[in-house]
Amino acid sequence: MARLVLVSNRVPSPQDRGVKSGGLVAALSEAMSGGLWFGWSGQVADRTESKAQVRRVRGTVYATIDLGKQDYDDYYVGFANSTLWPLLHFRLGLMEFDRPQYEAYQSVNRAFAAALVPQLKPDDIVWVHDYHLIPLARELRALGVRNKIAFFLHVPFVPPSVFAVLPKGSELLAALCDYDLVGVQTVTDLRNLLDCVRELLGRPVDDLGRVASNGRSARFGAFPIGIDARSFADMAVESAGGAEGKRLAQSLGGRALVMGVDRLDYSKGLPNRFEGFTRLLGRWKEWHEKVTYVQIAARSRDDVPQYRTIRRELDQLAGRINGRFGTIDWVPIRYINRPVARGTLAGYYRHTRVGLVTPLRDGMNLVAKEYVAAQDPEDPGVLVLSRFAGAVHELGEAVLVNPYDPDEIAEAINVALRMPLDERRDRWQRMWRRIATDDAAAWCKSFLTVLDA
Ligand code: UDP
Repeated sequence: MARLVLVSNRVPSPQDRGVKSGGLVAALSEAMSGGLWFGWSGQVADRTESKAQVRRVRGTVYATIDLGKQDYDDYYVGFANSTLWPLLHFRLGLMEFDRPQYEAYQSVNRAFAAALVPQLKPDDIVWVHDYHLIPLARELRALGVRNKIAFFLHVPFVPPSVFAVLPKGSELLAALCDYDLVGVQTVTDLRNLLDCVRELLGRPVDDLGRVASNGRSARFGAFPIGIDARSFADMAVESAGGAEGKRLAQSLGGRALVMGVDRLDYSKGLPNRFEGFTRLLGRWKEWHEKVTYVQIAARSRDDVPQYRTIRRELDQLAGRINGRFGTIDWVPIRYINRPVARGTLAGYYRHTRVGLVTPLRDGMNLVAKEYVAAQDPEDPGVLVLSRFAGAVHELGEAVLVNPYDPDEIAEAINVALRMPLDERRDRWQRMWRRIATDDAAAWCKSFLTVLDA
């Protein structure tokens, strides 16, 4: 079998895997055994390295480069996270564009390609991940790489009327066509992306989602990412009964637990969620002292100014709600800014009555799937889910909300808290069957099978 070479902006250091690992690490761990993982080390140096540092850990080879400070500012903080991230999450008001940052984005992709080429073997399959690395295939091809190269976009894609505002956007669309296969999370993202290719790039797309490009053909498809549902469920059982799980359960004093877990990001809809909880307490007084809302919002991207702004806003909101409703022995919102290990979260979810996942826009949202996987089949909690998370395509039995409407969030929490056991079981079973079948391994397999075809 060909070796799999994963390329992502950030390569997790093996010792960070417990705490900091995001969805990508979790989804790909299995497929990566025996493979190579290439990307940024997470370290910032004087200048971007041209040669990778290579380590082998438990059968996987990790090849990483440090980024120079200027490239970190312009490529990572700048174009990737201050231009593409807000754009692709439909937040034009937050999008900034700066030509030198775009040029740094191109040059870092060139540097990634140059440092990756010496690591490649002729029949390796190269699988590139996410919005930081859209031009990578083009740069690899320019260096003579003839391997199969595929791309997966973890974030949403916007329709042409939105994408059109991005200066140089057509260059990025053309660069996507240099891959053999481009995967996105949902059929909605796929439709948006192909509409952009047709309307903004002026290239025809055939019935199989193929676009002709430089004498080859790029295929586009939707591949909703899954989680390792069965092992997550096992982890939840173990962790719920472990020290941290018990500590949480005991601290509740019999109150129902409402829980949210997110990176602290403006796409996650946290201020509206806090406001939704406030309106729950304002409207249904019977929940006073009967529910506790735990929100874990792990700080991320602190170097991007908008992330500092939203952090201040949430600090204030949490303080205000606790000041208004709290009593001598009840804190309505417990708000935590540190990351929590995924295994510990699994146990927390199992103690949770209502899982709140209300992003304004999200490519998939793995927390929604993890919450379902962690439930006790005999007495499952209820998921409240945004209509604008990619996961809604597979988790339609959740209580669905428009995350822009705090009153709807309040009503959904109220419905979820009152939902009878039969209905909870019925909804949960349908969601579980889907996520247990369409899991991380199935996602990898279906993507690589189409690439191979
Ligand atoms: N996560 C974690 N610790 C935290 C917060 C999140 O391990 O404190 C994990 C979470 O379990 C999930 C991933 O990070 O696997 C977040 O993925 P998601 O798709 O929900 O959002 P993203 O952060 O990728 O936008």
